[in-house]
Amino acid sequence: MTVIRTDVCVVGGGPGGRALALALARLGRESVLLEQRHGAARSFYGESVSPQGVRILDSLGVWDELAGRAHRVDRLEIADGGRRVLDVRFADFPYTWRHPVELAQPALLAELSAAALGACRVLEPAAAVGLIEERGRVAGVRARTPEGELEIRAAVTVGADGRFSQVRRMAGLEDGARRTPLERDVIWLKLPFPAGWDRRAYRIRIAGASHALFLPGTDGRVRVGLNIPKGGLRQLRADGVGRLRAQLAALAPELHPAAEEHIRSWSDTVLLDIFTTEVARWSVPGAVLLGDAAHTLTPVLGQGINHALADAVALAGLLAPDPASDAAPRAFECSRRAPVTRSRALQLRQERLFTLAVPPGPTLRRTVYRTLNALPALRRRVFAPVYFPGERPVPADAPRDLVRSAS
Ligand SMILES: Cc1cc2nc3c(=O)[nH]c(=O)nc-3n(C[C@H](O)[C@H](O)[C@H](O)COP(=O)(O)OP(=O)(O)OC[C@H]3O[C@@H](n4cnc5c(N)ncnc54)[C@H](O)[C@@H]3O)c2cc1C
Repeated sequence: MTVIRTDVCVVGGGPGGRALALALARLGRESVLLEQRHGAARSFYGESVSPQGVRILDSLGVWDELAGRAHRVDRLEIADGGRRVLDVRFADFPYTWRHPVELAQPALLAELSAAALGACRVLEPAAAVGLIEERGRVAGVRARTPEGELEIRAAVTVGADGRFSQVRRMAGLEDGARRTPLERDVIWLKLPFPAGWDRRAYRIRIAGASHALFLPGTDGRVRVGLNIPKGGLRQLRADGVGRLRAQLAALAPELHPAAEEHIRSWSDTVLLDIFTTEVARWSVPGAVLLGDAAHTLTPVLGQGINHALADAVALAGLLAPDPASDAAPRAFECSRRAPVTRSRALQLRQERLFTLAVPPGPTLRRTVYRTLNALPALRRRVFAPVYFPGERPVPADAPRDLVRSAS
């Protein structure tokens, strides 16, 4: 069997895995990255990158290349019961990087890989199918490729293999993992961008217990995430795709003609099962998890990519001096668990607000949003931990050229 030796074996070529390989490369460490799929065709994966994510991409030296392909977002608008109740303007926040962007994942992943070329060997398609264990430590992985099985032996193996992580299961880290299903699932679909809508706005529309996200896609279309009750797809499918279009029209009547034309069957949609996963421990000797494998979040407020990137940079910094160190993964978990836990709590609070359907719930929700809308300082305090977690504000009188923004 072919054996490859390296400093770090990264399992999973999503944003977390590829950013880790690049961050390690910048620090002079070699890695081998395994990705089970071939090519980066991910039409319904996250595209929203928060301002902190943009700053991290800049620190990795890839932002200048990516900026031309990113779509800057200026506002988050929430409408409830047909009325706008909250308008958050990202330019109002006192940070160097202020704007989230939409960025297609294939472009992001390709750029991260290109920048790591030379220091990171990418094996694709190659699926990790087992861990090599020696003297009580994980010493690498066994991988299946079209050419046969391989062994990748490494000082440390990183499970960056997403929400259904195999490394987590194989390393025994699944025990004590808590999976919390949310009350709803999301159906994703894409439609032509409606005339008259601001292309630089994230929109959330709520009507009773129903809500949807409308995000400006990088392909010029609008990415729609329509929320349905947990397990509700079966009933919806039985009712037919017309029922889906009707639910969408109740929230966004202006999209109805496009939905009639473009949503002809269920194959025009993708279902995302919404849950969060909390893992009791992120590492065992010789292996550590990052990104969705360590902490699956919900799509609310686009946090997943950001945390995967932040994890990658933090872990690389700790592993680079000595990849075999068992203290490094523990220090990594120590530094990253708190921000992830805060994001999760914020997301769950937001979810609860969205799903308040019984009076006086909806009135209470509108009051919360209107109060935030009326009080800029409070609005900044509430949204700063979401979009700028741990970022240092710049002084109000800082020169304008410090305030970098995406195209
Ligand atoms: C439909 C959808 C929309 C989303 N929208 C957003 C958004 O707008 N903004 C946002 O921030 N987040 C969003 N998210 C979440 C976001 O995509 C994830 O949080 C983010 O991709 C996590 O990155 P990751 O690198 O940890 O894992 P992933 O991106 O899941 O990457 C894991 C990779 O590991 C590979 N893999 C799995 N098992 C193996 C194996 N055994 N061997 C080799 N490779 C393996 C997978 O093929 C995959 O490529 C969305 C998620 C979905 C599903």
